[in-house]
Order: sequence, then structure tokens, then C-alpha cells
Amino acid sequence: MRSDDPIDVFRDVLGATGVVTSADLVERYVVDHRDLLRGTTPAVLRPANTAEVQQITRLAARHGFGLVPQAGNTGYCGGATPDMSGRQLVVSLERMNRIREVDPLGHTLSADAGVILADAQKAALDHDLMLSLSLGSEGSCRLGGNVGTNAGGLSVLRYGITRDLVLGLEVVLPNGDVLDDMGRLRKNNTGYDLKQNFIGSEGTLGIVTGVVLKLGPKPVARATVWVELAADAPLARMLAVTRRESADLVSSFEYITAPAIALVQGAQPGALKAGPGGALLIEFSSSSTRLPLDDLLTGTLEAMVEAGWVSDALLAQNDRQRAAMWTLRESIPEGEKKAGGSVKHDISLPLGAIEPFLAAAGETVRCYDERLRLSVYGHLGDGNLHYNVLVPPGAERLAFTDLIEGDLSHRLYAIALGLGGTYSGEHGVARLKRDLLERYGDPVRLALMRRLKTAHDPDNIMNAGALVDPA
Ligand SMILES: Cc1cc2nc3c(=O)[nH]c(=O)nc-3n(C[C@H](O)[C@H](O)[C@H](O)COP(=O)(O)OP(=O)(O)OC[C@H]3O[C@@H](n4cnc5c(N)ncnc54)[C@H](O)[C@@H]3O)c2cc1C
Repeated sequence: MRSDDPIDVFRDVLGATGVVTSADLVERYVVDHRDLLRGTTPAVLRPANTAEVQQITRLAARHGFGLVPQAGNTGYCGGATPDMSGRQLVVSLERMNRIREVDPLGHTLSADAGVILADAQKAALDHDLMLSLSLGSEGSCRLGGNVGTNAGGLSVLRYGITRDLVLGLEVVLPNGDVLDDMGRLRKNNTGYDLKQNFIGSEGTLGIVTGVVLKLGPKPVARATVWVELAADAPLARMLAVTRRESADLVSSFEYITAPAIALVQGAQPGALKAGPGGALLIEFSSSSTRLPLDDLLTGTLEAMVEAGWVSDALLAQNDRQRAAMWTLRESIPEGEKKAGGSVKHDISLPLGAIEPFLAAAGETVRCYDERLRLSVYGHLGDGNLHYNVLVPPGAERLAFTDLIEGDLSHRLYAIALGLGGTYSGEHGVARLKRDLLERYGDPVRLALMRRLKTAHDPDNIMNAGALVDPA
């Protein structure tokens, strides 16, 4: 005899492996990566294909459930965490992890949205191609989440953000229809580019089930340097010089300050240090061995040293040294976590406003409370600074976060906004920055976003509570 459990309708469609309800297994799906949000869900749904996702959306609408798409659950804004209503089902695409096709001539990769980013990168490399999207979380995050957040990362400067890399999408809409836009066209001027609506929509408009991504030729040559900066090194000018001197072959231009390095190195400083102005990790890359990358990098450094911007520099002599530089850079978020956590500010600025921001923000923090410790680093080549305030030892993490976000954060955002910047460069809005969107968002833009949400999802089935509500 059939039970009264409303989840049974999903079991009928997805089978036992497609529905997770036991509390210990559900636990990891209802807490966000930073342990800032906790929700509850009657079940985690794990569809195996697009047709099952269609069935899920139709059944959810019929039985009054909301849906929260979840990929790797590494997002920083709580977009993949259900609310406390007990009426939102988590939809995890982790079983939809098939690379559908790599087109070596067209330089594209088509894949299920549940593929882990590192696996997609590997599939491209197997064809001597490169998927340029690269983040510290690439071993866990999944393509659907990268699309959902419009992820940035370490190579945006040269290759673009997720939005620039997506050629096609397959999306299950809240009414169960499938938008099949898995085309591999680089040019398609046949009306609105609808797939763009879903990129960065944080699961609020539909469930992305397939993705076509642009690939590039695999880099076979790299030149990497760790630069210790002199005091007051002009960061934006250094980037401009680097782009010019490298013939725009620079693929990463990362900025790291001494306290962020210390979070990773602890009490044992290594060879990689910051100068008085911080440090840069700069990398040039090329798919041809005929280009003299080392010469270009040396020439760039000479120009910087001559200008008095550099106190020291360490060229990576081999893959091991290069890897050590990247490991340090990519370990900073985990370093912050181990140190007790941080209040993150994902500041995006016009390049010329970076130094004015750093000066004004530093002064603001000092005046607010000179005991606060910062961890500042970021994708400087994209004008993106992670301006994070570390939770002081002994402080209660959530209370401290509330305190900072209720006051100091707004002072920092005011500086960024005044300089033409914004409060979310690459992490999104979702649940944790929704109030910022309400507070700082342009009213006309907000109204249009709400109308877009209404057009796609009038009943607010998709990720209610994240980003915007219907009009
Ligand atoms: C160590 C570390 C380093 C990081 N570095 C970076 C960085 O350099 N740049 C950067 O941008 N981010 C970075 N992040 C943040 C995070 O990894 C990215 O935002 C990533 O894109 C999230 O992917 P995910 O698979 O974990 O998505 P999730 O966290 O699971 O979901 C993110 C959002 O996408 C939605 N979503 C998930 N799947 C789908 C789907 N199939 N269809 C529709 N919507 C969906 C969710 O509802 C949610 O709103 C980092 C995180 C960590 C932990």
C-alpha cells in the first residue's frame, strides 16, 4: 500500500537512488560552504537525466514544492542552500556528470551540468585543448554551479568570465519545458540571446542541465613570476605595462598581501613573500613554444624594476616552483577558514580605482577598529579584490559577521560604489547579498529583473528567497 509521504511521487520517477531523505546523508546539502546558512529539506533529488529533471519541475509545481538547484555547494552567497520552510527540495545534478562531446576542430566541450569543473578541464586536455575556467574550488564545483554564479577565477583577464565562455545551454524551465540551446555557434544573431538570462541567475529561472563551453588551444609554454612590490607600487599601471610588454599574453595577474600569505604559511615564512606593497603572481602562457615567453617576462620585469615598482622577484624555474606559487594563492580561502573565518567583500572596481580604493578602505578599517586584521588578495587583472576582514581570535564568528556586515561593510561598499565599483564581482547575490541588491541596486534594473523572474517563474518555484522575487 502506498504511504502518505508526498516524496513518494518523486521516488516513483527517480527510483530509490534518486531520492535522499535520511538525515545524515541530507546534512551536507543543507549547509552552505562557509557554514553561514542552514536550511532544511524533505529530500534531496538526484536526477539521472534531463527528462527526470523535467518530471521533477512538473511534480514540484503540482505538489507545491519549491526547488533549489545545487551543484558542488562551494558558492559563497548561500544560493544552493534551502530555506527553513521544509517546502524546498534540493535538486543535485551530481549523477548527471557525463562529458557529452569534445569537438577538437570547433574547440568546444558539451557536457552535463553536473560535471565537476576539474573533470571538464581534463576532458579538454585529453584533446590537447584547454578549458580556461579555473577556480580554487575546481575539484568540487560543477558546471551548473559555475553557470549559476557566472564564476570568474584565475584566467578571466585573458579568456573571460563564465558568461564569455558559454556557447550553449540546455535548461529545464519551471513549467517542465526544455530550452534546448546547445548550439556550438560563435555567431547567432537570431534575436534575444536567451541563454544569457540563465548565466548568473543563481538557480532562480530554471535548472541548467547541459552546457557548451568554448575551449582554447592547450598552453604548452608558461612563464610565471612572483613579484614583491615596492611601497606604493602603481598596480593598474603595472598591469598596463605587463599587457603591453607581453603582447597581451598575460593570463593571470593576481594580487596578494602579506597577511593573506601568512594565513597559508603560518609562522614559517617561505621563499614567497610580499614586499611593502604586497605581491603579484603574474603568468604568461602560450600554445606555441616558438614565442619567447621568458624573454617577454624578463623584459616586463625590467621595465617594472627600472620604474622602482619592484623590491624583488622570483621567476619559476620549473613546474614545481610554479605549482608552489599557485598553491599558495589558491590556499588563501582555506587559510582564512582555518584561521576562524572571514567576512568577505568581493569588491569589483574599474582598474584605475584599485589604488584609491585600497587607500580609502585601509583608512576606513583603521578608523573603525585598528585591531582588525585583513586578508586582501584578488584577481587584480579583472579589477576584483577580495577585501576580507578576519574573525578575531575568540570572537563568535556569526555575531562578528553580523556586526561587520551591519556597519563596516557598508562603509567599504560606499567607497567602492563611489569609485564606480560594486559589491559583488564574481560571487553573486543569492541569499546572503540580497539585501545589498535591494539597497544599492538601480531601481529600474531591479524592476526589470523582477519582471524577468515573473516571466520565467511566476509561481516562484525556482530557488525562492535567492536573488529576486517575482514582481
Ligand atoms: C576555495 C574556493 C575558491 C573559490 N574561488 C572562486 C573564484 O576564484 N571565482 C569565483 O567566481 N568563485 C570562486 N569560489 C566560489 C564558488 O566556487 C563558485 O561560485 C562556483 O562557481 C560555485 O559552483 P558550485 O558548483 O559549487 O555551485 P553551488 O554552490 O552548488 O551553486 C551556486 C549557485 O548556482 C545555482 N546552481 C547550481 N547548479 C545549478 C544548475 N544546474 N542550474 C541552475 N542553477 C544552478 C545554485 O542554486 C546556486 O545559486 C570559490 C570557492 C571556494 C570554496
